[in-house]
Amino acid sequence: MLRAICFGLLLAGNVGHSTDHHYRLSLNQSLDYISVEAHLGDAVSSLTARNGDTDLLDSLTDCNGERLNARRGRIRIDAEQRCVRYNYPLRQSSRRVSQGSSQRLLFADGVVVTSPSEWLWIPTLEGEDQVLIEVDGPENLRFSVPWRVLDNGVFALGPSPQSSRSNVIFGHFRERMLRLPGTELRVALLDVSENRLSEDKILSWLDAAARDVAGVSGKFPNPNPQIIVMATGPGRRGGGGSAVPFGHVIRDGGEAVRFFVNGDKPLDDYLGDWTATHEFAHLLLPYIESKQKWISEGFASYYQNVLLARRGVYSEEEAWRRLHRSFSRAREIKNPPSPNNTAGRSFWEVRMLVYWSGAAVALLADAELREVSGGKESLDTVLGRLRSCCLPSPRQWRGRDFFAKLDELSTYKVFNRLYEEHADSRGMPDLTELFHKLGIKPAGEKVQLLENAPLAHIRRNIMKKTRSN
Ligand SMILES: [Zn+2]
Repeated sequence: MLRAICFGLLLAGNVGHSTDHHYRLSLNQSLDYISVEAHLGDAVSSLTARNGDTDLLDSLTDCNGERLNARRGRIRIDAEQRCVRYNYPLRQSSRRVSQGSSQRLLFADGVVVTSPSEWLWIPTLEGEDQVLIEVDGPENLRFSVPWRVLDNGVFALGPSPQSSRSNVIFGHFRERMLRLPGTELRVALLDVSENRLSEDKILSWLDAAARDVAGVSGKFPNPNPQIIVMATGPGRRGGGGSAVPFGHVIRDGGEAVRFFVNGDKPLDDYLGDWTATHEFAHLLLPYIESKQKWISEGFASYYQNVLLARRGVYSEEEAWRRLHRSFSRAREIKNPPSPNNTAGRSFWEVRMLVYWSGAAVALLADAELREVSGGKESLDTVLGRLRSCCLPSPRQWRGRDFFAKLDELSTYKVFNRLYEEHADSRGMPDLTELFHKLGIKPAGEKVQLLENAPLAHIRRNIMKKTRSN
């Protein structure tokens, strides 16, 4: 999908105090190198790429052909210098991406998965600064990027939380647009050599999961995310034979969700898998500092169960049983740290607490909001307001600020108090009283739902089926 536009138009002035830098990326047929031409909107002293290697920069010059210097991770430039050109090897970059992943990736020929954190050397971006990017290449070249799509077909990269390395994919692969109210998911399908992913199956699965999350507040939380679906190679160990062994959100220059899938599994396995709903639910929150992972993982884990019940994949009882079982396992951790201190311990030791302490806080907040507002407010409505005011967010948030913002957005202030009560207290929040009021009676790993409990209607409403599969 090449976009034919006049590059000259892009060189027009800046808006307000922000700076627009204009980049043109060019690729040749063999996809060995990427050529970059940067027109800087303002005086800058250097360009950097977070994971770039100055030794791999080739033909580094200004636009008059004068050589420029790069050392200690920086391309050095004079204040009056506004144009920089260089080449960067993609194959090398691509190999590193694959090696850095625990998944065994075997892509069909002619697809290069790269990380722009290696080859996109840019000035430091602040506030409204952005890099406007055009991509140019052979007629049949496709590319998938995490950057925001502008109306004129140019991409915009602004400040972002840089949670991990984004992917830009070049070559011959399928890209499909999945349209939902208020959003268009840009889905890249990467096949393994001998096996072609079923487009119908993958898109049906992603559509169901995206609708799960859009249902929280009526709209998917990002208008134009990059979605990457990578087929895992045959004979992979691990993943428990599930349809979607792994998924994760990447917030680096834009929001993206990357999935590794087992293309052989039938559609029903995909529709019954919670991974995509969990990953998309992460986008309901801004990026919260990684040492407080318990907040983002907790909210996503709560919603993965709630939303699969609302779609009818889980019965109400099944959803509560799964939550109860996970909460119980998180309580089994010996000498548990507080949620805020989980980052200081081995992840594998405390992972149940990382995932389920925050889910318990989400449940406590949701139930209390529904109770005190007489059903007018819920976690859904507050997160809907958060989406309207603040998402996607260009920065990292502290947990305390996130909870304060939720209180600011709700009529009933429950979030700060819950944060104060649980973030620095060891182990899991105690849910005994709440379960009693909701009419959830634990019986081993199972639960019995009691209809005469005082808040049974809230229990039912949280999981109420809102659509069919
Ligand atoms: Zn997660």
